[in-house]
Amino acid sequence: MIIGARDSTGPFHLTEPRTIAILGGGFCGATLAARLALRDAGQLLRIVLVERSKRQLATGPAYATANPNHLLNVPAGRMSAWPEEPDHFANWVRAIDPALRPDSFAPRRLYGQYLWEILRQAKSLDRSRSTLTIVEDEAIDIRSTPRSGAAVVHLRDSPPLIASDVVLALGNFPPSHPPPFDSLSSDQAYISDPWKNQALNRIGPNEEVLLLGTGLTMVDIAIALQSQGHQGKVTAVSRRGLLPQSHRSPVKPPEYRLSPAEVSRWPRSAVGLLRRVRFEIIQAAATGEDWRAVLNALRPGTSNLWRSLDSDEQARFLRHLRPWWDTHRHRMPASQAQIIRQMRANGRLQLLAGRLQSVRRVGSETEVQLRLRTDAAKTTIRVPWIINCTGPAHDLSRVDDELLRNLRRRGLIEFDPLRLGLTCAHDGAVIGAGGRLSKHIWALGSLRCGQLWESTAVPELRIQVKELAQRLTASSIGTITNAVVPDLRIVPVESISAREVAQP
Ligand SMILES: Cc1cc2nc3c(=O)[nH]c(=O)nc-3n(C[C@H](O)[C@H](O)[C@H](O)COP(=O)(O)OP(=O)(O)OC[C@H]3O[C@@H](n4cnc5c(N)ncnc54)[C@H](O)[C@@H]3O)c2cc1C
Repeated sequence: MIIGARDSTGPFHLTEPRTIAILGGGFCGATLAARLALRDAGQLLRIVLVERSKRQLATGPAYATANPNHLLNVPAGRMSAWPEEPDHFANWVRAIDPALRPDSFAPRRLYGQYLWEILRQAKSLDRSRSTLTIVEDEAIDIRSTPRSGAAVVHLRDSPPLIASDVVLALGNFPPSHPPPFDSLSSDQAYISDPWKNQALNRIGPNEEVLLLGTGLTMVDIAIALQSQGHQGKVTAVSRRGLLPQSHRSPVKPPEYRLSPAEVSRWPRSAVGLLRRVRFEIIQAAATGEDWRAVLNALRPGTSNLWRSLDSDEQARFLRHLRPWWDTHRHRMPASQAQIIRQMRANGRLQLLAGRLQSVRRVGSETEVQLRLRTDAAKTTIRVPWIINCTGPAHDLSRVDDELLRNLRRRGLIEFDPLRLGLTCAHDGAVIGAGGRLSKHIWALGSLRCGQLWESTAVPELRIQVKELAQRLTASSIGTITNAVVPDLRIVPVESISAREVAQP
């Protein structure tokens, strides 16, 4: 489908209405499309949402799981897709299961259903100022034609798409291979992406498994193995062997306050911030609060603190403090912590801290050599299965993605110098080769981690989506970006599989 035609002013002339192409239909792409489609005023827009995986439409990989034991790691009361209506998800999920309260950690599959229902309603509601088309295809290239103010998006199987704005909502990339495992990348017994549909089904109930990584992905996979009846030994390894901390149970609303004015005067060095946060934790303890209350209070200001550090200090933070930040900031629900404790107590799950040294196939098994952190002793593990649980890749230079490769080759994007996504301006406009600011390519989500640091979870992403929707519609005269928050009906979980993907 080509929306546009060649004319004398440039290679393409855009036909009305204005087209916004959103590449990636996970949380960010789907809610941006819905927000734009549900406006009740302003310029008529044509919105085209491109998602390569039908299974992940609206859900992305995070909420596509069918496993009821895979829980959100943020309480329901903070997971509304609409910051202007904070209870939207909590009310929706409670109508499905009255036991789920705003402080509950709901199953992720229900959240996926919620997002899908938002997208479905946005597509079907006729009162909108827009048309929303969903294309099941993969975007593989963009050619920018600045003279005509257009971008041409190339799709793998469909004809190109011409848009005045293109939003990169590409989300979470599959984990990259930890160094010695590059050699195993095509090995049948090495599961390089645990989120691939039914990746774990091949593992026999008594077979031993080695998990690379000890963070939230490892927790998910260990629990998934247990819930599919796996009885074999599971070993999980990371450099420090640190597990994510647990949320409090029951979750308490934030009761510790940090004044933004005061936080803006905090030191501009990684070690200075560490000392300051420790000081706040001691203060909190004196009032009966624990460290979680301080991290929660810090969260709205975290991006500002990150931006206040120069690149050397940001690099220092990543080098020395990141593992501790990640395990305290990205916590697991108490119920999952309990399962992990039990698995460790009965010897089914062993945690190791060490460096991976080498890997080789020995018959039908894989032998991995580790240098342990405690005594630098070498240890050898031989297992039939290895699963990469290192979590989504942020270093785009190590990601094998055709779209990113082409955009970089064309100088339309640059990788963030700290390997945390793309270089972006404050409003999400991407910055290409030679510092050239794009006028019509925007980034959302984890692609903006270098700029914002906190750019992976719904409480932050929904604000990014809202701001980008405002930015995209601000240029249309007289536009009011009132999104009509949908009053969702409750559909049975099964109906999520009946996804209609309309070709334009
Ligand atoms: C397992 C897991 C659990 C999580 N749990 C939580 C949680 O409980 N709470 C929370 O707040 N956050 C959670 N997160 C963080 C999560 O990343 C965000 O909440 C959110 O899902 C990110 O949405 P996104 O749209 O940026 O990316 P994604 O959801 O990853 O969506 C990106 C989409 O883009 C598509 N895509 C990529 N490239 C192309 C292309 N070239 N062409 C077409 N389509 C493309 C992909 O197929 C994918 O569907 C979790 C993350 C993971 C991985």
